[in-house]
Amino acid sequence: MSKRETAKVALITGAAGGIGRATVDVFLVEGWQVVALDREQAERPLPDDVQFLRVDLSAAREIERLGEELSERLPAGLHALVNNAAMQITKKLVETDPEEWDALMAVNLRAPYLLAKALYPALKRGRAAIVNVASVHALATSAEIGAYAASKGGLLALTRAMAIEFAADRVRVNAVLPGATDTAMLEAGLSRSSLEGENREESGVALAEKILLGRVARPEEIGRAIFFLADEKQSSYITGQPLVVDGGATAQLSIE
Ligand code: NAD
Repeated sequence: MSKRETAKVALITGAAGGIGRATVDVFLVEGWQVVALDREQAERPLPDDVQFLRVDLSAAREIERLGEELSERLPAGLHALVNNAAMQITKKLVETDPEEWDALMAVNLRAPYLLAKALYPALKRGRAAIVNVASVHALATSAEIGAYAASKGGLLALTRAMAIEFAADRVRVNAVLPGATDTAMLEAGLSRSSLEGENREESGVALAEKILLGRVARPEEIGRAIFFLADEKQSSYITGQPLVVDGGATAQLSIE
């Protein structure tokens, strides 16, 4: 049996995106087996030994089917579930349609709950760690991103609720709260009209200047924090907690 066949197994959602794809690499380097899930193919191809599942997380029935399939396919269970997939709407709340609100909540907040429910037997068997990728917007937010901020605040509350419910099964549940990270989502977010600067480049510079470490995060820096919370060897006594990875952005009052 190869080393990879006896390895721990992680399911990573949003694996085609910036942070998800980088997180896949972190887990692989650490010797884990990865099941990568997204509704789109990754721009940077996944290695051959990564199993890719094309799933739309806004469809409850697809998540149910996934639960049935993985429970059968993983007799030793699942060792980590990384709820990383999300969408963002950069609009005023008064301009957000109820359909847009529901679509965002379905991916960002309902899917982590449905995945935990559908995969519960596998998570329990594997004494897994669940890592929910929230955002600093769960703690403090800005204009024109209300639905997203609400979903991430909800995900933080859900993290605590799951930690309580699953503790008896020795399943730990924590959240990573990234600050601005160099991905397509940040790129799209920077174009919103409420941000400082005339154009995308000026908004990017203005943003970096407000971060204590003077730059946005690289996706793999978030991936390593996710791995830390997933890995029993490193974080065995941590559950129900937020880990802020934001270059110090939220340490400083914005009014200064
Ligand atoms: P991204 O847009 O690059 O990747 C998100 C991925 O989620 C995409 O591959 C997309 O296809 C997938 N996805 C979206 N809806 C889906 C659905 N219905 N079904 C399946 N997959 C779906 O974004 P990212 O920056 O890599 O974000 C990853 C996580 O980090 C998200 O939870 C995001 O909210 C969070 N985050 C990002 C930043 C940032 O600045 N980039 C900051 C804080 C938090």
